[in-house]
Amino acid sequence: MNILLIGSGGREHAFAWKIVNSKNCSQLFVAPGNAGTAAIAQNVAIEVTDFEKIGQFVLDNKINMVVVGPEEPLVKGIVNYFAERDDLKNIPVIGPDRKGAQLEGSKDFSKKFMEKCGIPTAASMTFTAENFEEGLEFIELQELPIVLKADGLAAGKGVLICQSHEEAKSSLKEMLLESKFGKASEKVVVEQFLSGIEVSVFVATDGNSYIILPEAKDYKRIGEHDTGLNTGGMGAVSPVPFVDQQFLEKVEKRIVIPTIKGLELQNIRYQGFLFIGLMNVNGDPYVIEYNVRMGDPETQAVLPRIKSDFVDLLYSMGIKQLGNYNFELENFCTTTVVMVAGGYPESYKKGDAIHGLDQVQSENVLVFHAGTRLGDSGNILTNGGRVLAVTGTGKILEEALQHAYEKVKKIHWNDAYFRKDIGQDLLKFKK
Ligand code: ATP
Repeated sequence: MNILLIGSGGREHAFAWKIVNSKNCSQLFVAPGNAGTAAIAQNVAIEVTDFEKIGQFVLDNKINMVVVGPEEPLVKGIVNYFAERDDLKNIPVIGPDRKGAQLEGSKDFSKKFMEKCGIPTAASMTFTAENFEEGLEFIELQELPIVLKADGLAAGKGVLICQSHEEAKSSLKEMLLESKFGKASEKVVVEQFLSGIEVSVFVATDGNSYIILPEAKDYKRIGEHDTGLNTGGMGAVSPVPFVDQQFLEKVEKRIVIPTIKGLELQNIRYQGFLFIGLMNVNGDPYVIEYNVRMGDPETQAVLPRIKSDFVDLLYSMGIKQLGNYNFELENFCTTTVVMVAGGYPESYKKGDAIHGLDQVQSENVLVFHAGTRLGDSGNILTNGGRVLAVTGTGKILEEALQHAYEKVKKIHWNDAYFRKDIGQDLLKFKK
């Protein structure tokens, strides 16, 4: 079948790699893609939220399925756009509808959804400019630290963990009354702090049946030992050694099943991936957040571990036949190390030539492009903060790490940076 993939990051390169390796893919187009996707598929210069152009491209190129990587087109309603057009409504779009995407697009919506479905999460209250004073009183009564979250999408920056009541109150004022995060902080969720260790669980669903995909742990901060500024993600490991069968059973029973039931009850059309950010609090899972798409860089660690046909998996979600899909996993571990431009996540340079990519071919390593583009002479240049994601595979975590880092060290450009401690905190656990 002909497939159109929407997006341009490392996550989409991993999707593209998996899709073109399926016997069920005739042709893959990526809008807009990057230098990595250009090498294995056909890039198309269409913006991810230009639904009219996407729809026309789908018709002109006889596309049989659209796969959406990032959240923005989902939150803006790409699924509804296709469903509402007679000439497009029969083409499956992998992702939730606009209402379902609110699970990620609005923290207030997702907290209310969890409350309604009885899903374990931190206790919270939502405030607006109208009840700001009540918000201050509420903060006074909370134990420290206190978590404040801008309701809308704020590029991972809208969450503040406040160490004093004063800090929380002045942050609430900045967010609600001084538009600290623009429209995104017109509502603010004030939440109890959960103490534990984080892990992400991924679910594929057709709105009724579901498959729990391999879990992953990501590394968000720029500095080693999780210090410094937050980033889009500096690395990932899958599986996560402290996630055992007992924990996964709790996740399924207390979180996954009630979530899927809740989607059905609220008439949400959800045929896509759901990313559940969890806190493991003394062996019990609590939801920190939902994302309505796969994670980046977790995808680059999770997808290589899927053995069964990936296009079948996507299409089964699209035609609501996921219950008949035979899901199989590889029996190896993966670790992903993200290489970034010097200065990221603050200002950084683009356009540096990347060297060494020709020396990293190996059956134990995959190199996914994120912020890259083709230069005029066909060489590959940096074109973003997160530039490459290098995934190593191995029978055990140590081996996967060794394979990834061996190749990372062979790749160079001016000021390239990567964390050297990905997975180190997990070596003490055994799986
Ligand atoms: P991202 O875009 O990075 O996924 P986000 O802006 O959607 O993040 P959250 O995932 O809700 O926001 O929170 C970001 C981080 O803040 C979490 O990964 C977690 O480390 C921390 N955090 C959020 N809520 C809590 C909580 N209730 N208790 C403790 N830590 C929390």
